[in-house]
Amino acid sequence: MDQTKIDTLRAQTVPAFEHLIDGKHMPASDGRTMDVISPIDGSVLTTTAAGTSADMTAAIASARAAFEDGRWAGQPPAARKAVLMRWADLIERNALELAVLGVRDNGTEISMALKAEPGSAATTIRYYAEALDKIYGEIAPTSADILGMIHKEPVGVVGAIIPWNFPMMIGAWKLGPALAMGNSVVLKPAETASLSLMRMAELALEAGLPPGVLNAVTGEGRVVGETLGLSMEVDVLAFTGSGATGRRLMEYAARSNMKRVYLELGGKSPNIVFADAPNLDEAAKVAAAGIFRNAGQVCVAGSRLLVEASIHDDFVAAVGKATQAMRVGDPLRVDTNIGAVNSETQLKANLGFVDTARSEGGEIVLGGDRIMAETGGYYMAPTIVTGVGRDATLAQKEVFGPILAVTPFETEQEAVSLANSTVYGLAGAAWTANLGRAHRMVKAVRTGVMHINTYGGADGTVPLGGVGQSGNGSDKSLHAIEKYVNLKTAWIKL
Ligand code: ADP
Repeated sequence: MDQTKIDTLRAQTVPAFEHLIDGKHMPASDGRTMDVISPIDGSVLTTTAAGTSADMTAAIASARAAFEDGRWAGQPPAARKAVLMRWADLIERNALELAVLGVRDNGTEISMALKAEPGSAATTIRYYAEALDKIYGEIAPTSADILGMIHKEPVGVVGAIIPWNFPMMIGAWKLGPALAMGNSVVLKPAETASLSLMRMAELALEAGLPPGVLNAVTGEGRVVGETLGLSMEVDVLAFTGSGATGRRLMEYAARSNMKRVYLELGGKSPNIVFADAPNLDEAAKVAAAGIFRNAGQVCVAGSRLLVEASIHDDFVAAVGKATQAMRVGDPLRVDTNIGAVNSETQLKANLGFVDTARSEGGEIVLGGDRIMAETGGYYMAPTIVTGVGRDATLAQKEVFGPILAVTPFETEQEAVSLANSTVYGLAGAAWTANLGRAHRMVKAVRTGVMHINTYGGADGTVPLGGVGQSGNGSDKSLHAIEKYVNLKTAWIKL
C-alpha cells in the first residue's frame, strides 16, 4: 500500500451520488439529498439521493421487468459468467480508489479495508461466476415409467439490504450468488456507507450487466428499505444488519407476499481461552485483533473473552499489552490498526455501554473513552472490561464497537454454559492444545462458525450464517446459492 497514492485519493472531491435505476443515474423524485458525514473528521464528504418510496418502487419495477424479459436470466451461462468475471476485474483494477472512498465514508482502517472490501468483493464475485456453469439440476431415482427432474430456477427479484461496516464485502456476498443464478437485484446500501457500494454497482454496468438487472437506491432504511420489504414484486430479502431491522423485515414479508427473508444479524461471540492453549501470547494478540479491528464493528467480532480462571490475570494483561500495541487513529494511514467509529450515533451508543458496564460492576481496565475529539472525527479507545457477569448487559447485548467483555470460568462445562448463554450464535473460538476438547467445543458451542486456535479469517469457501437470533441462511460458499434459487420438480410419465 502506497501512502502517497492514498493521500492523493483522499484529497479528491467526491461527486454527489444518485440512485442507479434502469442503467441510469437518477436523483430522488423530490430532489432531496442526504449529507454524507465522514467519520474521519466529521466533515461533509458529499451527498447521496434521499430516496423516496416512489424511487424504490421504480427500481423494483425495473428489476422485475429485467427479470421477466430474460435479458439476464435468459443469457447462456457462459455469457453471464463473462460479465461477472469482467466485473470482478474492474473491482480489482479500481481497488484502491474504491477502498479509499469507502474508508472516507465509513472509517474502517485502510489496511483492513483494502483486503476486506474490494479485495474480498472481487474474489466473491469471481467465485460465483466460476460456479454458475457447474450447477446442475437433478434426476430423481423414480420408477422406470417416470422421469422425475429437479430444476434450479432463479427466484426473480432479490432485495439486498446492506450494513455499513463492510459494504462491498457483504454486498458481494449477496450480489455474487443472486446475479450468478440469473436473478435481478435491488440494492439498498446503508445510510452511513453507501458510496463504495454505489460505485461498485456502476462498475457492474460497465462490465456489461444489462440495465435494470442491478438497481441501487440510497436513502433511509425506514423509507426505501420499508418499501422494498413490503413490495409484492420482491421475491427474496437478503439482509445483514441489526436484529431489530431483521424482525421488521420478517413482519414486512408476513404483511405482503410472504417473500423469503434471509437474515445475518448480530452476535456476542465467545472467544474461549483454556490454560492449555498452545500459545497464549499468540492467543492474546489474536483476541485483541478479533475484537478491535474495524473498531469492533464486525458481526463475528469476538466480543466476549471467556478465560480459564487460573490464567485470567496474566492473560488479560497480555491482551491489554497487545491492544496497546495497536495504533488507533486516522483510518487512511497505512499503519493504523483501528480506525474510526462509523458515526456519532454509534460512538454515543458505545460510550453508553461503558457507563452501563461500570454501573453493573464491571471494571474498565483499558480505554473507555472517546479520543481524538479535536479532529472532529469519531474515535474510541479500545476498551477492556473485566468482571462481566453472565447476565450483565455487556455479556448479553451486541455493542458493535471496540469493547471487550471478560469473564472467568473454572471448568470446560462452565465455559460451554457461558458461551451458550446469549440469544445469539454467530461465531466463537476455543484455544486449547487438547484435540478431544477442541472437537467437544466445536460440537457444544451453538454457533455458525467455531474457530479453534485462531479467530476470524474464514474464507469464501465456507458458509457464514447464524443460529438463534443471529439469523438464518448462509452467505459465502456454494450453500449461499440455495437462497437465490427455487427448486422446481418436473414429474413426467414416459
Ligand atoms: P445498524 O444498527 O447496524 O445500522 P440496521 O439494521 O439499522 O443496522 O441497518 C442495516 C441496513 O438496514 C441499512 O441499510 C439500513 O438502512 C436498513 N434498514 C434500517 N431500518 C430499516 C427498515 N425499517 N426497513 C428496511 N431496511 C432498514
